[in-house]
Amino acid sequence: LPIKADELVLLKKLGSGNSGTVSKVLHLPTQKTMARKIIHIDAKEVIQSQIIRELRIMHECDSPFIIGFYGTFLHEGDVVICMEYVDCGSLDKIYKVTGPFPEFMLKHIAYSVLSGLVYLYDNHRIIHRDVKPSNVLLDSKGNIKLCDFGVSRELINSMADTFVGTSTYMSPERIQGGVYNVKGDVWSLGLMLFELASGIFAFGGAPEGCVQEVSGLQGDPQRKTPDSILDLLQRIVNETPPSLKESDGYSPELCQFVALCLKKEKDRPDPHTLLKHSFLSGFAEPDSVKVCPEYRSDIKKWAKNVRRVQKGRPKK
Ligand code: ATP
Ligand code: MG
Repeated sequence: LPIKADELVLLKKLGSGNSGTVSKVLHLPTQKTMARKIIHIDAKEVIQSQIIRELRIMHECDSPFIIGFYGTFLHEGDVVICMEYVDCGSLDKIYKVTGPFPEFMLKHIAYSVLSGLVYLYDNHRIIHRDVKPSNVLLDSKGNIKLCDFGVSRELINSMADTFVGTSTYMSPERIQGGVYNVKGDVWSLGLMLFELASGIFAFGGAPEGCVQEVSGLQGDPQRKTPDSILDLLQRIVNETPPSLKESDGYSPELCQFVALCLKKEKDRPDPHTLLKHSFLSGFAEPDSVKVCPEYRSDIKKWAKNVRRVQKGRPKK
């Protein structure tokens, strides 16, 4: 049954980004808690209707690594998307309460994100285009889910016109205007893992006007803060990408995995290949299980504790 605007009761604002505002809401007819995203787009009505039609492809997305979808509609000139509410929220928020992530969580995140990317591309020919900590969600059972992927060509186009911030997760080839393929998402995953592991913003801090995605991150002390967004983008294109060092206590597998993600496009593996990397050994092929058996209890315990700390309770 289609969802109507007046059936949704606001419970709490969850946050807002470049594209819109997300709130936790209650859907009265079903008594389901949902996350509602409102995106304001200055476009003609025909374009907005086209966006709604394209977004409905999400009804066909069915994977444990992809956010659940309830429906989408136009309301007072805004595009409204109703999706599954994920209780621990996004990795940027979680980082604020936990600090750097343990390696088993980085494995689980890498495995889940890659599996989600493979699912989207192999089944729907969708490239995510916006992998970053605020678009990767964790629930208190330990499931990792992707959201905000590029389902609607028309929405991508409309946003390109109104885009205010600059994402620091864009791959060098994308900054240079090259063809965008799924390897661009692998770069973003690598940068995200580097940051979640080290707490260091790879390219020397975010300049003014640029969205600092993971708050609490320190700029790399070896590099000075870029003067402008242009300076930052130039660095991503020209400078050697960051790397994790074994001497800082990371496993050789993690260091190598991140290094592969941050290679130049032609040498960068695709998601299928990376799923077979030794860093992810013990994790099953896509879609067969949600959580690696070897780490299942650690992951569940970690996720439960995130929720406890978010609610102001002590860790267990
Ligand atoms: P950008 O607009 O650049 O993508 P963003 O991802 O931070 O930035 P939004 O997509 O508007 O912005 O999301 C705002 C916040 O809402 C996110 O940071 C996330 O913490 C939270 N959020 C989004 N979707 C959900 C969801 N399904 N369940 C729970 N929290 C969510
Ligand atoms: Mg988002």
